[in-house]
Amino acid sequence: MGLLEGKNALVFGLANDKSIAWGIIQAFLREGANVGISYAGEVMAKRVKPLAEKINCQWVEECDVSQDAQIESVAQKAAAHFGKVDILVHSIAFAGRDELSKPFAQTSREGFRTAMDISVYSFVALTNAFSSILNPGASVMCLTYGSGATKVAPHYNVMGVAKAALESSARYLAYDLGPQKIRVNAISAGPIRTLAAAGVGGFRDMYKHFADAAPLRENVTIEDVGNMAVFLGSDLSARVTGEVIYIDSGFNIMGVQIAGEQ
Ligand code: NAP
Repeated sequence: MGLLEGKNALVFGLANDKSIAWGIIQAFLREGANVGISYAGEVMAKRVKPLAEKINCQWVEECDVSQDAQIESVAQKAAAHFGKVDILVHSIAFAGRDELSKPFAQTSREGFRTAMDISVYSFVALTNAFSSILNPGASVMCLTYGSGATKVAPHYNVMGVAKAALESSARYLAYDLGPQKIRVNAISAGPIRTLAAAGVGGFRDMYKHFADAAPLRENVTIEDVGNMAVFLGSDLSARVTGEVIYIDSGFNIMGVQIAGEQ
């Protein structure tokens, strides 16, 4: 029997088969969950719908999380289809490409606002919109990059600031929803080649450096993240809430990185 047998899981943020969301969806299916998928807009529908068909997904809904009305509507559609939900995954982030290449000090007001709105506030809004249909014991999770939130990752800029706010939001939501026995956590993944990552200046170098410097000397995959999401979605993590859990080959423990050392 799978670890998520009988659980209804909704995953927001599928763009293509390189997305972290896709790794999570596949791991959830492997463990027996009943999965629903949400994606951003019509442009992505062309990529997402064939993927959803491939896994015979019955609930595939568009939702631009910058729009309150769309969040409300997707929550109503989920209630109508699933009744109750056990796992909610937010795998969404956005910042203008410009903001991720110029110096952080030059971040524009609009760029800051957009990054915070789509990458952070949407997590709060989604959690709130779904809270009335989350079962006791339900698990809510988001994706962060802790090394860019708690320290400086060159070029990550406003996204690092947004991730710090996202991690803090996970803690506040964990406190609010704790009495309903709903857990809220953040998964901090190491760099993975995805569409979103392609927008971060210098990502290729960061990706390579990561594998050289991490204790396990290897990069993280979407399958690795999927397995962590299974743990957080399952009853194995029943008393874990408000945490940022790193899946990064140990990169975050390093205080000094020595170039070229094997
Ligand atoms: P991805 O495949 O590009 O996924 C990002 C998703 O966010 C896309 O599906 C994107 O849709 C969606 N999105 C953006 N604006 C949206 C909006 N207004 N409404 C709804 N959805 C919207 O990249 P990913 O790397 O898997 O990113 C998933 C999460 O993992 C993000 O939170 C990211 O910060 C985090 N993360 C990534 C890495 C990494 O190295 N890749 C590391 C740590 C954490 P569109 O493409 O249609 O805009």
